[in-house]
Amino acid sequence: MIETRHNWTKEEILEIYNKPFMELLYDAATAHRLHHDPNVVQVSTLLSIKTGGCSEDCGYCPQAARYHTNIEGNDLMSVQQVKAQALRAKESGSSRVCMGAAWRNVKDGEEFDQVLEMVRSINKLDMEVCCTLGMLTENQAKRLAEAGLYAYNHNLDSSEEYYKEVISTRGFQDRLDTIDNVRKTNVTVCSGGIIGMGEKVEDRAGMLVALSTLNPQPESVPINALVAVEGTPLEDQEPVSIWDMVRMVATTRIVMPETQVRLSAGRTQMTREGQAMCFFAGANSIFAGDKLLTTPNPDVNEDMKMFELLGLNPQKPFTKKVQPQTVEAKDSQYQDLGEKPKWTRPDHTIERNEAAKQKAKTLK
Ligand code: SF4
Repeated sequence: MIETRHNWTKEEILEIYNKPFMELLYDAATAHRLHHDPNVVQVSTLLSIKTGGCSEDCGYCPQAARYHTNIEGNDLMSVQQVKAQALRAKESGSSRVCMGAAWRNVKDGEEFDQVLEMVRSINKLDMEVCCTLGMLTENQAKRLAEAGLYAYNHNLDSSEEYYKEVISTRGFQDRLDTIDNVRKTNVTVCSGGIIGMGEKVEDRAGMLVALSTLNPQPESVPINALVAVEGTPLEDQEPVSIWDMVRMVATTRIVMPETQVRLSAGRTQMTREGQAMCFFAGANSIFAGDKLLTTPNPDVNEDMKMFELLGLNPQKPFTKKVQPQTVEAKDSQYQDLGEKPKWTRPDHTIERNEAAKQKAKTLK
């Protein structure tokens, strides 16, 4: 086993990222084999339980209400709809369901109660349940844990410095505070970021410093390649090269050897050979289904053919941690406090986000 370090510096991480490619791959594959079965990859399903209409200004996101992106929004799905989709996902090989709601933050009330029921119903299907619902208070995190939540996703997106070039409506520290609230429970943390937003390699390393110096490190780190969606401020970004993607996955694997590294958005732009390199470099999860929230994703049958070709097996649920117990709503020890998480609004505007907002107004 390689000892997990929590004191990585940006310089050390850059040195790893910039190693000769073959050496980097070898080191990452070695770290991977010490902590994980290299022939096992988790298949997860991401469900958009509430799409569009978000009040944030994340420059990459087609669900931000202020941009004009032609996505079809929908209100919160019913518990029955979610359960039916989770069952279908289970039948096609998924061991984890991640429910995403385009919310700035969780608000106590009817809709949150409905999400808690969704968590209960999926945990009872013996699948790992993850939620990504925006910012969260400690009490809300505890209520999710009690319902049987396995993981909470809240991405850092980029380095603290570059984050300010992408999002102005909440701060980097707000993200860390939500992660901290999740850490006060038994729910595992899922937090990663996006490459290809115009950031420098130093920012990629900076994001990995922020994640790897958390103690404990996140149990799950999604690495996304930007899918540039027309109408968003980042619509003109060039696609990320596969070499950058493999370098990022490999570096993540080396600095966070125990974590589940998730190959997330941007897989449709990758060949099977490219994805195979990512698996060799330490990626051990993919998201299945034809959509990743609102952006395209490879067909599940294509993924299963790739697994067969590469001799990969889907990971069983609760391989890394035992299944949480579900407490029914009537037996809950927590109350609805009518809370909204606190947040800071950095006092700055991002020109390209403002320009996209103005352009959207003229198109309406
Ligand atoms: S990434 Fe999340 S918080 Fe940001 S605009 Fe999209 S839905 Fe809202």
